Order: sequence, then structure tokens, then C-alpha cells
Amino acid sequence: MAIRRLPQLVVNQIAAGEVVDRPASVVKELMENAVDAGASRIDVAIERGGRDLIRVTDDGRGIPAGELELAVTAHATSKIGSTEDLNAIATLGFRGEALASVAAISRMTIVSRVRDSNEAGRLDIAGDDVGTLRPASGPPGTTVTIRDLFFNTPARRKFMRADATESARVTRAVEVLALAHPAIGFGLTIDGRAAVELPAGQGRRERILDVLGPELEPELLAFSAGEQGLTISGMAGRPGIARGTTRHQTILLNGRPISDRSITHAVKEAYRGLIDPGRHPTIVLFMEIEPRLVDVNVHPAKAEVRFRAPSLVHSAVLSAIRRRLREADLTPAFELQRATISTTGAPAEFVERFRMLDTAQKGFVYSEVKQALAAEAPEFLDLGGDDPSEILPTIKLVPEVLQVHSSYLVTTDEHGLLIVDQHALHERVMFEMLLEAVSKGPLESQRLLMPAMVEVDPTQVDLLDGLRPLLTRIGIEAEAAGPAAVAIHAFSTFLFERGVEPPEFLRDVLDRCARDGIETDPEAALHETLDMMACKAAIKAGDRLSEREIADLLARREQVERSSNCPHGRPTTLRLTIADLEKQFGRR
Ligand code: ADP
Ligand code: MG
Repeated sequence: MAIRRLPQLVVNQIAAGEVVDRPASVVKELMENAVDAGASRIDVAIERGGRDLIRVTDDGRGIPAGELELAVTAHATSKIGSTEDLNAIATLGFRGEALASVAAISRMTIVSRVRDSNEAGRLDIAGDDVGTLRPASGPPGTTVTIRDLFFNTPARRKFMRADATESARVTRAVEVLALAHPAIGFGLTIDGRAAVELPAGQGRRERILDVLGPELEPELLAFSAGEQGLTISGMAGRPGIARGTTRHQTILLNGRPISDRSITHAVKEAYRGLIDPGRHPTIVLFMEIEPRLVDVNVHPAKAEVRFRAPSLVHSAVLSAIRRRLREADLTPAFELQRATISTTGAPAEFVERFRMLDTAQKGFVYSEVKQALAAEAPEFLDLGGDDPSEILPTIKLVPEVLQVHSSYLVTTDEHGLLIVDQHALHERVMFEMLLEAVSKGPLESQRLLMPAMVEVDPTQVDLLDGLRPLLTRIGIEAEAAGPAAVAIHAFSTFLFERGVEPPEFLRDVLDRCARDGIETDPEAALHETLDMMACKAAIKAGDRLSEREIADLLARREQVERSSNCPHGRPTTLRLTIADLEKQFGRR
């Protein structure tokens, strides 16, 4: 075939391939036009997942009748006019492609009336048949109706999923744009049924609660931070409402919903150690940045952007959310079902009672207590950090702590009853201490008189070189000693003291690397290894604890960061609030 210029219809259909891949993207483009037109109310209706009908109505400024035909041609826009404008886009649209693209793959009708005209104009388009402009009646604003989407592009039609799936995507598109523009009212009707109704004039908080569900209010933490030329705000979900998908993550940049891997990463990073790595935090994140500092012209559907200073944005998002999570008391409250309350009391053998320090003995001296207890309890953990006497004032001298089943500590605070998983909490405490110690230099290590030998898989010997910098940081020195053996010459003092065997630990590290690969990000690899150390060194479920150990562990709970969850994200502590107790006992 000789080279030729493609007919305009084909050009538009190619463009449509990038911009509109399913009903939800049509709805998104039409709603964006309504937002750009200054609408205060946007109503969307779809039928059969958008296959039969998509209609978007707004009360915005409208399209002058004389410009209707131009509006549906490719590269026609009222939003930018020069290269200069392209560098600082303040509208959602700017490519002048959406109407032309959608028109090329559907039967489209536009009825629009500008505010100071007393009649509307109407245009019907099907493929390259642009009908004639006719007068019509209607209120100020624009209604775009799409029927038979993809009627002339059967390949695309085949990719449509079940109606319910397409409807769910449309719903999500409406909700996401509604989150970005709380002042605008939004309505969505699916097959004649009202699916979304959000009143105009809402604030961000109100809109978020309306979209996510008002029952989530106690689970959401508001945050805001301002950096130079960049402000960040929104609501971050407590770890307990993290989900298996990213559906509950909304990132809004200058009123535009975007997807951005670096920001998603920053969010995830802020929750590191608070949620299971396979789950995704619930969050609505608003970012306002000077338009000149971001390029939105990098993706046909404008879903991705490019920041001038991506690492600055990443760290600003990370620190804003992390700070908020640190401020919060993240201990999850749990509600008992009535049926689970036993009236007979706990079996005596499950309950070991620990009478701790005498309540009368208020201003005691740490060194005396320590001496008195030294005989029965080994030094709990001393990484050379804070002098424990400094943290004593924050120890609440709870007169009684129960160790239940040698696994759980039951105690109280001002909010109610706390149940602590001793292993999970100890693991978190160890992890935070190791993290702090390693930030100051390599961990203390001890030379072995005789190298400890580990038999490993030959391929694992090759991993050693890559691992060396990491091992050095945690105080381990190991060399290959044959095709399938590694010799450990020095080992972490901390692990020694916690009774962890050098060969067992190194083999675990090598196994983990062989299985999951070495994390390319050295910080992430370090975190993972410290986590392994903390897990191995921590007291286990089933370990009986001395009074000293219990006191120390509970004191550390108030000391360390993120003590509400273990490094894997499981909770360390559950709280049964006084309010819930009162409810359960029928006192209210
Ligand atoms: P873009 O939004 O990139 O400018 P579109 O093809 O989506 O391109 O729309 C073309 C033009 O039609 C817009 O620039 C705008 O002037 C006009 N337009 C489209 N939809 C509306 C609407 N709902 N209200 C007012 N004007 C609209
Ligand atoms: Mg547009």
C-alpha cells in the first residue's frame, strides 16, 4: 500500500483508542469538560454498563451554537492557545480530542445552551456523519448523550466486561472526580436507579465521608502539610481499614485524579510496619502544586503526570502522612460480640497473676529495683541506647498485669483494657531499637574463636558478595568456604545475647534472598533483615516472663514508634474501651 494520509474518521478512532477504552473513560472525559465549564452540578446516567447509553448533563457555561461543530472536531479546544499555555495547564482538558474521539466511535448528541442565550443548539453525530445544527430547547448548560458505544469498532466492543463491572468502573470514576471537587454536586443513575448522590457545596471532609461512608469517620486521620509550592492534605485511614486493592486510594493533583507510582510508593512507605505489605492503605490525598512544576501532557488520558522534582514530592508526601500516623494512637479498639462473653470467668490455669511493683512504692530508684530483680531476670535488652532510668517516669505503675497463656499481657490504660501480644510487641520494640542503633553505625559484633560453618546451596554462596554490605551493617562477617559452605567469622552481639544461633540465622537470610531476591533498595533490604533479627530475638508466645521483663516491655510500648503494630503490620495491642465494656454490661 502506498503511503497516504488517513481519513479523519480513522485518525479520530485511533485517538479514541488511547483516550476512551471503556464507558468509564467516556464518562470521565465528559465530566471533566463539565468541571472545566464551571458546572455546579453534574448528572451522569448510564444503561447496561454504558453500552446502550451514557448521558452527562451539566449546568456549566455551555457551548455557543456557532462553535458546536468545531467542538467535535479533532484538536479543537477553548482551553489553551499556545505553547506557553501548555506549560501551565489549569484546566482538566487541553488536548481538544475527547469529543472528537468519542463521536468517532459512537452515536453522539450534544445539546448546549450558553447562559445568556434563550435557546439551545443541538448536534447529532454518528461516525463521520456530522448532522446539521438545529435549535433545541433546554436549560443553560450542556447535555452529551452517547448511544451505541463502539458500534463501529467491534474489536473494542469485545473488550467490554460484564455490565456490572463497567458500571462499577463508572461509579468509581464519578466518585473520584467528586472527591476532587467537593463544591460540585454529582449524581449517578445506573439503569434508572440512583447510585450516587452528592450535594453541591460540600467541604473536603464532608465529601470524603459521603463517598467513603460516614461509618469510617473514626478510622480516618486528617493531615495537612505545606512545603514550598506544594501543599498536601487529606485523610489517611488507620491501619485496620487497609484493603487488598488500591481502590480505596485516591490521589488528586490540582483537582485531577492521577495515578502515580512514586506517590503510591510514598504512601505505602509511610505505613511501613503498620500494615501487611500485601495490603494498601485507605487514603484520600490532595496535592496542590504550581502548574509550572508539573507536566500533565505525558499521558493521552491525562492519568499520569511528571513532576519537575519527583523526589521532593515523594518525600513531602511520605513525611506528611508518616508524621500524622506517628501522632495518632493506632491501637485498634475491638468490640466484643455479646455471645463471646463467657459468664463463668477465665479458667484458672489460663491466668497467671503477676503482682508487679507495690503500688505504695512510688518514687523508687531504678538501680535498686534493677538490682533486686537482677537475680531473677537477665538484662532485657541493652543496645547502649537510652538509660532505662530516663524512661521510667513514663512507666505506668499498673498494679496488676496478667500474663495469660504465657502469651498475652492484659493491662489497662486511661481508655480501657489493653491486651498485648508479647511476641508482636517485643518484635516491634527490638526492631525500632535496631533501626536506631544501625543509623549510628554498624551493629556491634563479636569475633568467633572458631568460624561457624553453614552448609548452603551452591547458588547461595554466590549471593554472599551482594549481601556483604548489608551483613557488615548488622555485625556479621561471612566468607565462602567451599562450593557449598559459608564460614561465619563474626556475628552480631545482639543476636548472640538473644540466643540466636549464627548458622541458623545466616541460613535464613540466604534462604530469604534466594527465594525473594535481594531487595534492590538497600534501605528496604536493611529493614527486612532487621525485621528478621527482631523476630528471631523476640520473646515468643509461650515464654513465661519475669516481672521485670513485663514492666520493661510495657514501658517500651510507650517509648517506641509505631508500637501499635509489629513490623509485619499485625497489631501488637488490642483495646477494649470503657465505653464498650459499659455497653456490653448493659450499663448504658
Ligand atoms: P478539551 O476538553 O481538551 O478542550 P474536548 O474535546 O473535551 O477537548 O472539548 C472540546 C471543547 O468543547 C472544549 O474545549 C470546550 O470549549 C467545549 N466543551 C466540551 N464540553 C463542554 C461542556 N460540557 N460545557 C462547555 N463546553 C464544553
Ligand atoms: Mg475535554
